[in-house]
Amino acid sequence: KAKATGKNTYHIYKPSADKQIYKRIELENDLRNAIVTNQLELYYQPKVCSDKNQIVGAEALIRWKHPKWGIIPPNEFIPIAEETGMISEIERWVVYTACKQTKMWQRRNLSSIPISVNLTAHRFLEKDFVQTVIRILESTQLAPQFLEIEITESSLLVNDSTVLAILDDLRRIGIGISLDDFGTGYSSLSYLKRFKGKFDTLKLDRSFIIDLSFGDTAEDNYITKTIINLAQYLKMDVIAEGVETYEQLQILSNFKCNMIQGYLFSKPVPADDFAELLSLNQLEIKEDYDGEKDYS
Ligand code: C2E
Ligand code: MG
Ligand code: MG
Ligand code: MG
Repeated sequence: KAKATGKNTYHIYKPSADKQIYKRIELENDLRNAIVTNQLELYYQPKVCSDKNQIVGAEALIRWKHPKWGIIPPNEFIPIAEETGMISEIERWVVYTACKQTKMWQRRNLSSIPISVNLTAHRFLEKDFVQTVIRILESTQLAPQFLEIEITESSLLVNDSTVLAILDDLRRIGIGISLDDFGTGYSSLSYLKRFKGKFDTLKLDRSFIIDLSFGDTAEDNYITKTIINLAQYLKMDVIAEGVETYEQLQILSNFKCNMIQGYLFSKPVPADDFAELLSLNQLEIKEDYDGEKDYS
């Protein structure tokens, strides 16, 4: 970048690049203590059936409340966790915490919805992975049908046969499997064929939702419609991610995609706030969201 914009910019970018590196080193060190010092927290975002605006599921999304840097989003520290091998411990904590929380909501008669957690390919391929999940379900006493695992398309690039076997194991136990961020990878459609019958749910990436409109680019909508139809033909549920406007909701509804996740209904919220959402019969549709993405 500095090259393309001329040499003057060098002096502008260098200090901030240094700062980035220092922050990164600092984060790496701090992350080792983040679990024991209770700095990690799960937020929960509802998955909503738009027929009745009722919550039909929740996705657990990790946040790191850093004493100095404030809330650090997963896209900033999950890669660090992966590179340093801390991801196993973090994801074990995520699965355990999400299961325990869901069981707690069930005990309070607040909920009978499944919780989904995001796992990276790396964790997924560890030898003891399935056993670990089973142990967590046993210790939290959560029935397996209330746990779902979201894995991204790009996770599937690695080691096909191992992944396929693990998917089978998990589904045999009764755990749901979702294909996250669908449509962002290099060979999305060929995956659908190769992994046919392995996924319960396809999560249509936000990039497809952003472009939906009734306006003169309406033909773009047909790509999205086609993916929805294809997924349904393959007997998968489809969830639209990142729905922010009423217009998007209407178009998706026309396309018979009724499972919605997005700021239009709710941002991811802390557990206590989510319990309040659960106690409502119906979620209200919010104003169209047009702000910045934030983590407050
Ligand atoms: P994802 O699994 O695709 O999660 C959806 C992301 O979209 C979340 O970002 C969520 O806050 C955001 N989102 C939801 N609705 C809207 C909307 O209407 N508009 C916009 N602009 N954004 C929306 P978040 O929480 O920052 O998470 C980003 C990614 O980090 C996740 O993408 C997931 O891949 C990863 N991640 C989150 N938690 C975990 C975790 O516990 N473990 C691992 N391995 N990855 C995680
Ligand atoms: Mg996800
Ligand atoms: Mg996603
Ligand atoms: Mg994503």
